[in-house]
Amino acid sequence: MSDCVFCKIVGGELPASKVYEDDELLAFHDIHPFARVHLLIIPKLHVASLAECTAEHQNLLGKMLLLAPRLAKESGLDAGFKTLINTGRGGGQEVFHIHVHVFGGGDPAKRA
Ligand code: AMP
Ligand code: ZN
Repeated sequence: MSDCVFCKIVGGELPASKVYEDDELLAFHDIHPFARVHLLIIPKLHVASLAECTAEHQNLLGKMLLLAPRLAKESGLDAGFKTLINTGRGGGQEVFHIHVHVFGGGDPAKRA
């Protein structure tokens, strides 16, 4: 998707502060963090949102979720972390390339 910000990061056209990469996934720091640690896990494959996922994306979704605790631990979030997948405009999604937010280290009483 030529006009997709996250595809541009995958393709190296836009910079990102990467923390993880393999043949299927990429993870990097959110540009506007709302916690001390705020990462995004994305598939390299362009899928617009969770609502577009089908059974063929099952393994990919599993890989994305299983990466979250690993990256949280590597980021020092030993006390725990939050995950978030915004889906669709009504769900607060702004970038239409599926991503899992992984964040923590903020005030536990607040959103982050
Ligand atoms: P969402 O509302 O779930 O679609 O979240 C999109 C997230 O992507 C927001 O938290 C943005 O701060 C983040 N974001 C947008 N552009 C970039 C970028 N170029 N690099 C890193 N994070 C980005
Ligand atoms: Zn994309």
